[in-house]
Amino acid sequence: MSATQRAGWSRLPLRAAAFVALTCATILGVSGWREWTARDAVLKDAEMEMANVARSLTQHAEDSLDLLDSGVVGVVSRLEMDGTAPVTIAKLRTLLDVRKKAIARIHSLAIIDDQGNWLTSPGTIGTTFSDDAFFRYHQLSPKREAHVGRPVKSLLDGEWVVTLSRRFSKQDGSFGGVVLATISSNYLSHFYKQFEIGRNSSVSLAHGDGLIVARNPSNETFVGRSVADKPLFREPSLQRPSGAYHFTSPLDGAERVSFFNRSGRFPLLLLATVDKDELLAPWRAAAISRMLYVLALVMLIAVIGGVLVRQLQRGQRMAVALTETEAHFRLLAEGSSDMVTRIGLDERLRYVSPSSVRIVGWRPNQLIGTPALAGINPEDLPEVQAIVDAMKRGEKEEARLTYRNSHRQNGEIWLESTMRVTRKDNGQVDGVVAISRDITEHKRLETRLETLAIEDSLTGLANRRRFDERLKEEWARAYRDRSSLALLMIDVDHFKAYNDEYGHPAGDACLRLIAKIIAAEAQRAGDLAARYGGEEFAMLLPNIDAGGCARIGERIRNAIHEAGLAHGSNEAAGCVTASLGGAACRPAFERTAGVAALVEAADRALYAAKAAGRNRLVMSGEVMDLLPKASGQ
Ligand code: GH3
Ligand code: MG
Ligand code: MG
Repeated sequence: MSATQRAGWSRLPLRAAAFVALTCATILGVSGWREWTARDAVLKDAEMEMANVARSLTQHAEDSLDLLDSGVVGVVSRLEMDGTAPVTIAKLRTLLDVRKKAIARIHSLAIIDDQGNWLTSPGTIGTTFSDDAFFRYHQLSPKREAHVGRPVKSLLDGEWVVTLSRRFSKQDGSFGGVVLATISSNYLSHFYKQFEIGRNSSVSLAHGDGLIVARNPSNETFVGRSVADKPLFREPSLQRPSGAYHFTSPLDGAERVSFFNRSGRFPLLLLATVDKDELLAPWRAAAISRMLYVLALVMLIAVIGGVLVRQLQRGQRMAVALTETEAHFRLLAEGSSDMVTRIGLDERLRYVSPSSVRIVGWRPNQLIGTPALAGINPEDLPEVQAIVDAMKRGEKEEARLTYRNSHRQNGEIWLESTMRVTRKDNGQVDGVVAISRDITEHKRLETRLETLAIEDSLTGLANRRRFDERLKEEWARAYRDRSSLALLMIDVDHFKAYNDEYGHPAGDACLRLIAKIIAAEAQRAGDLAARYGGEEFAMLLPNIDAGGCARIGERIRNAIHEAGLAHGSNEAAGCVTASLGGAACRPAFERTAGVAALVEAADRALYAAKAAGRNRLVMSGEVMDLLPKASGQ
């Protein structure tokens, strides 16, 4: 797996996680934004409503003043035409009373002379308006327009009122006095009550210089108070005819949404406010419940997304591990000098590692799909087949076997295979894995070692060790079969002298010749010719009695003699000769059981043959005849 692939792999869960996070963030963002715009809409609606209230109440204030003014104008023109004679005043008072009664919003109507005396209410003696702001204004200003003054406390009943006044002139044009009309603050406050929008909503009418004229609610508390220091009167940006205005109430510290409207004709400002919290409460409740749903949804997405990302990560880790395992396996299988094969249940090759070229001479692609046991030597096949069958049935888990297999070029080779059953996840056998190595060389060495172990290197006959083994075996067999077993001991005559005369190599050649002669007589399957030691040979003859043994012994003696190998020191014959001792027995009937007895008997016979003059065969049965003689000598 390359580095970029690996990086790509690990980036996938990261991307998935980022996607989930982005989705959650987007849902939250969009929902939050929508709620915020809904909040904005609520505020805008409120501003709109406040604007309507402010405009219509400004209109109401202007209309009220106009109504007052129409009365005032009428009185001014009568006074200027008729003068201020008591008769005229009395007539006008009646007129004013009627008018005041007819129009509820008129708090009072008064005619004041040039000294500030209240002409229409002579009962209030000593009451003078000479110090009032509106009076002094008219006294000083020749303007004939209506003048709206600051709110003042009525001299009549102490109520807060707004004044509207005009001056009237005497015949000569000089200042004659003032006609005054007032609206009560309470009237306005009452009127505003019908525009109550919420618990903390309020409507205030203020004079242009910042004094509150009327307010609903709590008119009594606020009227006459100055708000001239508030931003509405100070901040340049708010010095426009109308607009929305958000502020924190100094009364309770809560936020307010309001709309102000300045009258174009009179120095009046109307402010309608509503509590922001109260305004937003329904929206807030709905938004919170909606956002809770959204939050639950987002959490669900996050949880599901998290689980999926986890699974993705785990799957990826597993895939990486699997790929690594596979890579390791391939490395092992393909790097191994042994041939790794996988055999399916149909006994065909599913996988063959590249070393097959070296082991059997075929490339993997030439072998895959072919029968797995095709190359096995027919002699070894049944054993291998039986093991494979047992494995397929699930009776055998693993096996190690050695067999011969054909090689593409090198004929036959020896293979050693370790086989092991492979199973599916559910435990069912699905094939066999075999790891095979070429052990031909090993086998060859083994055979060679085996041969070395049992063969005499000079003569090629069985060595002493082999002889001893076979003797024991044959003895046991003869014992079981109640058959006979014979043994010949053969010793070259005066061989020491032969060596001395002809040299050791000639001695060796002589020994080889004699060995050949002896081997030629070992004609039956069980016969064994062996070099017993030095120039002494032995011949094991199973299933032969003393007579048969004597015949073979005699043939050997004769053959050696006949070979006629010159031996000067062997004076009697002049050539190489040998002496033989033979013994035969039937182990099952022998009193002195054991192989030693047989060897001893043959040895004694040989000794007897030497003693009797050499170049002869003596059977152990004859020893008795000879020995007393020998011992007698
Ligand atoms: P005898 O007739 O009594 O058997 O006399 P012998 O000289 O054959 O008897 P002895 O056992 O005294 O001598 C055996 C000789 O065989 C001694 C040794 O030099 C010789 N010999 C033993 N093994 C070998 C061998 O492998 N090669 C050769 N060249 N000589 C051997
Ligand atoms: Mg000897
Ligand atoms: Mg000898």
